[in-house]
Amino acid sequence: MFETLQAQPSDKILALMKAFREDPRPEKIDLGVGVYKNAKGQTPIMRAVKTAEKQLWESQDTKSYVGLVGDPAFADAMISLILGDAVARETVAAAATPGGTGAVRQCLEMAKMANPKLRVFVSDPTWPNHLSIMKFMGIEVVPYRYFDNETRGVDFDGMLADIKQAGKGDIVLLHGCCHNPTGANLNLTEWQIVADTLNATGATPMIDIAYQGFGDGLEEDAAGTRLIASSVPETLIAASCSKNFGVYRERTGLAMAVSQDSSAKALNQDTLAFLNRQNYSFPPDHGARVVTMVLTDPALRADWEAELEDVRRGMLKLREQLAGELQRASGSDRFGFLAQHRGMFSRLGASADLVEKLRAEHGIYMIGDSRMNIAGLNEKTVPILADAIVKSGI
Ligand code: PLP
Repeated sequence: MFETLQAQPSDKILALMKAFREDPRPEKIDLGVGVYKNAKGQTPIMRAVKTAEKQLWESQDTKSYVGLVGDPAFADAMISLILGDAVARETVAAAATPGGTGAVRQCLEMAKMANPKLRVFVSDPTWPNHLSIMKFMGIEVVPYRYFDNETRGVDFDGMLADIKQAGKGDIVLLHGCCHNPTGANLNLTEWQIVADTLNATGATPMIDIAYQGFGDGLEEDAAGTRLIASSVPETLIAASCSKNFGVYRERTGLAMAVSQDSSAKALNQDTLAFLNRQNYSFPPDHGARVVTMVLTDPALRADWEAELEDVRRGMLKLREQLAGELQRASGSDRFGFLAQHRGMFSRLGASADLVEKLRAEHGIYMIGDSRMNIAGLNEKTVPILADAIVKSGI
């Protein structure tokens, strides 16, 4: 029977990683990969995570099942991290999931159960996995304008005109912060206008928040999500701990359904538990438990916040250095947007041909849509990249 299967399109990022590994040039620079790297090119285990893991190893005396939606303490800690006191805890249904990807999938499953003819409005561009998951699930995707290729900022007028087309029964998918792949984000005034628009049209927001703490700070990065969740009747939220806790392979995430009507919570909670049961039963526990320990122990939390802040500031410094070097090399301010963007990624706005030229002539690897991982740089490689960008005619 398997002869009926069709080969799937290869993952572009994995293909790029392979090409990078096989490139013999010692000066090559990898800006393609989607994980945080420090100045030494490592993706370290965060100090507080390591300490919590040691404590857990000492104290844990069973690996028996936890619960269909995971440990409630994990949900409590994450809801407080993401939503603060923007909404009452009794209004939030939540289920631990395998990573943020699992949370995205479960939120979409829940929306599709509620409306089998669901349409999801997504930013153009968005994280490619959003599109492939929805295609696989048979969900209709409607792109909305987002990235302005001239300013390299958000085309807010275009976005607004497009999301106004979403109505009751539709989902509008938003990135909570640090938009992947562009790095261009909404300001709080724009978030408010989006909330007002959703209230006017009746469409339901779904927020994917995978980089809290990587942009302007833990609180600042959650501000848009909090504003939406406290303003509209229902909000789905998919959160990932992969980046801000550095627990990528532990698969740690949380799917949330916020409803202003607390009587809806029980049904939402049952639905999320049911969906976990159908897909994988019990969600992974190790990463979630470690994250809970880090968030609830004051000393571990302070250490985690300090390390995360160093990571954030390090990426901001690289952004500023790169914008400065590009100004020097090009004699113009046209790359100033790189210092305005936030998070791990920026879309340079170069054609696929120029991206290929950077790879072939300079050993600089970025995704074909010109997404760069800023964390793939260090102080020494920033001027090399700046010169290569200008020499390539970008
Ligand atoms: N959402 C976005 C926008 C992402 O960029 C990512 C990771 O790259 C995720 C969700 C989910 O990540 P994970 O499943 O590794 O937690």
